[in-house]
Amino acid sequence: MGLPHNQLLSRRHFCFCCMTGAAFAVTGGWLTPRQAFAEARGLVTLIKDSAASSPVTPYKLRGNVTVLEGSGGNIAVLTGPDGKLLVDAGIGVSRPQLTKTLSGLGPDPVAHLINTHWHFDHADGNDWLHSIGARIIAHENTRKHLSEVQRVEDWDYNFLPLPAGAIPSEVISANRALKLNGASIELKPYKPAHTDGDLSVTFGEADILHAGDTYWNGIYPFIDYSTGGSIDGMIAASDANLAAATDSTIIIPGHGKPVSNKSELKDFRNMLADIRDKVAALKKAGRTQQETVAAKPTAAHDAKWGQFVIDPAFFTKLVYEGV
Ligand SMILES: [Zn+2]
Repeated sequence: MGLPHNQLLSRRHFCFCCMTGAAFAVTGGWLTPRQAFAEARGLVTLIKDSAASSPVTPYKLRGNVTVLEGSGGNIAVLTGPDGKLLVDAGIGVSRPQLTKTLSGLGPDPVAHLINTHWHFDHADGNDWLHSIGARIIAHENTRKHLSEVQRVEDWDYNFLPLPAGAIPSEVISANRALKLNGASIELKPYKPAHTDGDLSVTFGEADILHAGDTYWNGIYPFIDYSTGGSIDGMIAASDANLAAATDSTIIIPGHGKPVSNKSELKDFRNMLADIRDKVAALKKAGRTQQETVAAKPTAAHDAKWGQFVIDPAFFTKLVYEGV
């Protein structure tokens, strides 16, 4: 019933966040945790293999900021004499492509790395980036998740701690301003949304907002309930992103087309809120999870948002869990 692995993997942005959805699509049905685990373990290997051969594409934005697409989540890069600053690290096996792309942006070494949250497709590259000199900053909960065995219930899977050097050495729990390469940079923790350790990063003069995985551009998002995420948190984070943006702000989503704007973000927020209300009404009326999926509460949005690995049924399940 589902798409074959190779078809899924030929899509861009294939990532860790999407594994459960992919496992669902591959088997065409609900998985027990142990089946999901077996699928997910196979998919981690496939994701890595896929990333190893995927190109990394740079998109120049404004004010020495570029976004890179092709290694897990979208990576922002600020260049300049204080050394490059990266927002998210991608997947480790992309090192050769990222090294080449980064050197094409200028001779400055990588000096700073911010993780928007703990997920593999955003933090797996921490180790090699630290080894070439990056100081790593993240939310305190991100450091906690990267330092400990991290159990994700949906996958019945234990993720091992990262090596010592790959653990963020600086953590924040409140807004933090940095001045690097002439840019005013602000890191802002969200309330729990996609996880409990999400950060946004803004580049003031260039008017760019990296929203991490609180924003998926044009595709249904994953929500990680195992580490504090929720549908209501995603909606609240979308409202915070909208409040922080103007019509000229460039918005970088964690996944999906890497250069976005307030109008597309608004569509995302409205899609989340509409599906949340429909699923909540069904749950309140006593429908089980399977009955709610069968009622297709996402139908009006599927043509636009349901074309990626978080498919309509899986997204319905994620929303159902949180209402
Ligand atoms: Zn994520």
